Amino acid sequence: MLIEDKYKQWRLDAFEMPATIEGVMDQALNIQEKAQKLNDSELSFTQQMEAYKELDLLFDALESLFYLMKITCSCDGVHGLQCVLDKTASVLIEDAKPFLTRLLSASLSDVPTWAQQLKNDSDDFNETGSDCISAAAFVPAPVSSHICAEKDSSALTTENRILVDRIKYRILSDPLEKNGFPRLFNQRANPKKAFISLIQEMNTDNVFEESRAYFDSMIPPSLRAESKMVSSEKSLSLSMLRAIQRQAWSHLTFSIEDAIDYIDSQFSLYDERFRGKVKRAFSEGRIRFISNQDEPSFCFDTPKGSFIQVYFVGDLESLALLTHECGHLLHQETVRNQFVLKQDIQPYLSEAIALYFENRLIKTLLNAEYVYLSWRNAQKNEWFDRHVLLVKFELALYQLDRIDCASIAKSWMQCNREFYPPYVMFDNEFAFKGEKIAHLCHAPFYTLVYPAAYELSQTIDETLLKKLIGQTSV
Ligand SMILES: [Zn+2]
Repeated sequence: MLIEDKYKQWRLDAFEMPATIEGVMDQALNIQEKAQKLNDSELSFTQQMEAYKELDLLFDALESLFYLMKITCSCDGVHGLQCVLDKTASVLIEDAKPFLTRLLSASLSDVPTWAQQLKNDSDDFNETGSDCISAAAFVPAPVSSHICAEKDSSALTTENRILVDRIKYRILSDPLEKNGFPRLFNQRANPKKAFISLIQEMNTDNVFEESRAYFDSMIPPSLRAESKMVSSEKSLSLSMLRAIQRQAWSHLTFSIEDAIDYIDSQFSLYDERFRGKVKRAFSEGRIRFISNQDEPSFCFDTPKGSFIQVYFVGDLESLALLTHECGHLLHQETVRNQFVLKQDIQPYLSEAIALYFENRLIKTLLNAEYVYLSWRNAQKNEWFDRHVLLVKFELALYQLDRIDCASIAKSWMQCNREFYPPYVMFDNEFAFKGEKIAHLCHAPFYTLVYPAAYELSQTIDETLLKKLIGQTSV
């Protein structure tokens, strides 16, 4: 499916500043000037709160625009703007200190919801023994937290070598702790009770067995027998296996416009508050459709509404992925509506909600039971089994004597050989796909979030959704 040019780019005019290097620099200076006025002695507390809110949103918008520009602009200067933003953030943190001290001593009932939340965040900071009370508001949310596409391709390049160096650096700077897991793994896994069963899963081969059994069940015995023969023409390639997996729904295709209409109309049925949000994002140019599978799909929360980048080729998987990202959009925009300022949404909850939307819509669409069952099995294999495989791969990197292209590829292939039945053959390029997993360096062990979120998503119903979507934590 060819994507029309008008759907290939975001419209960035909503940020009310030029999407150029000069535009970002001007706005950064403007914010720094405004920040000084926050301590104007003539301001009442109410006026000060208004000024703080405006500043926070201005900086949030600036950071958001900068993030989107980095993805779409190829000009060198854009990345150099990071230091301008860092400088602005430190000016803001410094200038906001007197106001935040004042806010801390105010009564909860005297301040709006966003300020109550800020007070709560500051309390949390105090409880953890940090004196960094003012940082909460300006710490940028991890932008990679909603990157959902793990699919990747293409052969070994210099890019691989750069990736390998980054992985090497990451592994060496995060040694194993007493319990045998690295610190970053413990940080993601420990505070969440829901992850306990997953940590146990790491020590077993259950998902590998389940995955092989799943693939086995869909391959006709005759093909299985043929594939076991050594002759390479008769082996079953991974792409053939994937084609068999999606046979049940491969006839379904969707245009971009139809997909948007369908998602919006389905979401409106779930909750009247959701009506029109997806269509609005689409008509305002906040959804960017891409056809390169190497680029990540994500939904990015900004004060001007959520921005989506999504891999879309018109098949059912594309519709599901678009629904998933639109599920993030609904969640993010509902939270924004309630708290105005950017909130630190737990990735685990965020992914569970997005998965819930994805699964519910696909279930309605695939009302023929056998098709839906095939889809469900594939979903479980993808979100649970394969993501456990990814975490196991990440952990296996710690066991390598030497981290280089060859050892990473070997480790990657070992994990995948256990995951797929023995008659599946991999092409040469596949061996070098391990290091291309977007989360490996951007957000280590983020793939742990998906199996846990998948399990939670299976327990969500309409009542629980209403409870969850209005909250930032459970
Ligand atoms: Zn997601």
